[in-house]
Amino acid sequence: GYVGLHATGFRDFLLKSEISRAIADCGFEHPSEVQHECIPQAILGMDIVCQAKSGMGKTAVFVIAILQQLDLAKDGEGSGMPKALILCHTRELAYQINHEFERFSTHMKDVAVSVFYGGINIKENVKDLKEKKPNVIVGTPGRIKQLGKQGDLNLKFIRHFVLDECDKMLQVLDMRGDVQEIFKMTPLDKQVMMFSATMSETIRPVVKKFMTDPMEIYVDDEAKLTLHGLVQHYVRLQENEKNRKLNDLLDALDFNQVVIFVKSVSRAIELNKLLIECNFPSICIHARMSQEDRLECFKSFKQGNKRILVATDLAARGLDVERVNIVLNYDMPEGEGGTGADTYLHRVGRAGRFGTKGLAITFVASPKDSEVLNQVQERFEVDIKELPQEIDTAAY
Ligand code: ADP
Ligand code: MG
Repeated sequence: GYVGLHATGFRDFLLKSEISRAIADCGFEHPSEVQHECIPQAILGMDIVCQAKSGMGKTAVFVIAILQQLDLAKDGEGSGMPKALILCHTRELAYQINHEFERFSTHMKDVAVSVFYGGINIKENVKDLKEKKPNVIVGTPGRIKQLGKQGDLNLKFIRHFVLDECDKMLQVLDMRGDVQEIFKMTPLDKQVMMFSATMSETIRPVVKKFMTDPMEIYVDDEAKLTLHGLVQHYVRLQENEKNRKLNDLLDALDFNQVVIFVKSVSRAIELNKLLIECNFPSICIHARMSQEDRLECFKSFKQGNKRILVATDLAARGLDVERVNIVLNYDMPEGEGGTGADTYLHRVGRAGRFGTKGLAITFVASPKDSEVLNQVQERFEVDIKELPQEIDTAAY
């Protein structure tokens, strides 16, 4: 599919040689459109609001911008204190972002990154802070707030503040409260960067409250957020026909890895059990698992040990698993005021990462499901057709 790549190279950004080497190690040849638009501004320390399609490399924008600007030799008073803070909405995403920092900073010996989220003994985080003295912190709001309040995490020297999936983080009121409290613990004068694939008109003013005169980069207007390499279909059926249909599809489709989204934890558990009984290589991930199991499961799927992941919306945003080429909406996403359509877009964006091909199939089992499907088609200007009898496997 169309990837929106630019003829320019990363070389044009005049990055530190350690970063350029890491980019080459990662196999990145050309910056994507969003990287091309954002990196030159971001490395100058400007505040940035950035909306761009799923899978187009938004993470690298803030990782590179932060690493480029860290100047640890000139630290003075704040020596050994955290300089950058990245907040995101799930623990798996925090883990993944931490990993991106590690990849891009392999040649920068004085950069130390730590990741903090709930479900882990907080004493371990405190020990990590004392011993490692991280200069970059990635985490989820609840745990970061707690560490800040306890006085274990000093946020007074933060110079770069990032919210990934910012609309999600600011829509959920509890999370917004935590983010605001953390924000207040950081200095006034700092760079703020916010990212998402979806940024509705209603959330934009909320987002901008955190910034001073930001660069607003909307790489794609809403209508163009649909991924080009992604083939999308729906199947109209009854609730009680879903399992049978899913079984047939998993047998018939040619997939590397597939994510199946359901609407509740109990349905994730049940469906996963059923798939295993039918000898499908399935695992599931949801918020009621222990933190260790959650991360194990995510890692295992990312490594390709299991080919089917049954998930709740916990996994709808941000997660990047290269081999996923099919997303199945076993249950249509729900949500008030069009957020169902947002969730749809994020879910299907788990396939077709970085311009690769993919297939999304959605079960439509009620009038409410049809309504969300219509919202998706209108908002993102896509024409989602009924699943044909035969799908060309070359299409995804
Ligand atoms: P987003 O946050 O925009 O959804 P990610 O940052 O998760 O996207 O990136 C998606 C995938 O694309 C990742 O696997 C990442 O390593 C890869 N990627 C990012 N930038 C490039 C690039 N310039 N060239 C090749 N691959 C890239
Ligand atoms: Mg992302």
